Amino acid sequence: MIDSFNRTIDYVRIAVTDRCNLRCFYCMPAEGIPYEPQAHLLSYEEITRLLRVLGNIGFQKVRFTGGEPFLRKDFMKLLESVSAIKDYNSIHITSNGTLLQKHIAALKQLGITKINLSIDSLDRKRFHKITRRDDFDKVMETFHMLMENGFKVKLNAVIMKGINTQDIIPLAELAKDHAVDVRFIEEMPFNGGYKENLEMYSARDIHSDLRAHYPDLERLSSKHGDTASLLSIPGYKGNIGVIAAFSRTFCNTCNRLRISAKGEIKSCLYDDGVFNIRDYMRSGVTDEELADKFREIIRLKPKDGFEAEKMRKAPTAAMQSMSSIGG
Ligand code: SAM
Ligand code: SF4
Repeated sequence: MIDSFNRTIDYVRIAVTDRCNLRCFYCMPAEGIPYEPQAHLLSYEEITRLLRVLGNIGFQKVRFTGGEPFLRKDFMKLLESVSAIKDYNSIHITSNGTLLQKHIAALKQLGITKINLSIDSLDRKRFHKITRRDDFDKVMETFHMLMENGFKVKLNAVIMKGINTQDIIPLAELAKDHAVDVRFIEEMPFNGGYKENLEMYSARDIHSDLRAHYPDLERLSSKHGDTASLLSIPGYKGNIGVIAAFSRTFCNTCNRLRISAKGEIKSCLYDDGVFNIRDYMRSGVTDEELADKFREIIRLKPKDGFEAEKMRKAPTAAMQSMSSIGG
């Protein structure tokens, strides 16, 4: 599907739950967020159906996220049914890594080997402070287990001024001996109300820290839909990515739609939901009507995150939690 800005839209990100067992402060408040009741979530049958329909109109990539996707009961069953849909080149998952160890063998068997893990610090205390949980060892263990089992892992680290900028180089160093992509992400204001005006540590700041430490840093050309500006350090096994998620410099290559756990479609991360596909499905529409609705939403996808933000019904993004959006 091509949108009105000539972008090919073929990637969907689905949050399977808004629940999480961590409390990363940039994502949600210490007390959590008011979770949706189970009946409000898209059922696994509904998710599989909408992925089938999206596959028919050209979608090729799906990422499951959350909240923490492995927290939802029988998540592996959903992955089993989705892996039977042939349109998707690969199935991706973004996880905090605390609950997935016991599923590694089953994931491998399903051929689901592309996992993004979130690790914002290599310092155990700082990790605890950021996530408000003491799970650093578990997450690192998961990282090593995934690498040993041949998974293609990306590490996501949100970089925040005064919090974890000192982690940029140690995290980048993981790419020396491991074929892992380490991606640094600008903080966005989707934190469930903690702060509206962030003290931004920008992609540019991150780039200059990296360049100061690695003068031979090379820029790599980006592929379809890449949101990260990609860098390589000569001799390192993995690459580095910097994602200007707040500065929004990559919107001209955006290839994605997002669907929240309760079926709210975001055609841009910065809109506040353009259509509820769960209610539409539950009204008894046919697959063809569903496909037409997706076509219409894609046609109306805004030019960039700034345009999308202007169209918001609610004035600020800060009251939303990334846990209900999916990142
Ligand atoms: N729980 C899983 C995890 O943490 O990987 C999946 C959901 S989480 C919402 C997806 C991604 O969004 C994570 O990499 C997380 O770091 C990122 N994220 C959450 N809140 C963010 C924020 N305010 N700004 C930037 N990235 C954020
Ligand atoms: Fe949970 Fe992921 Fe949000 Fe952290 S970023 S609180 S792990 S959903």
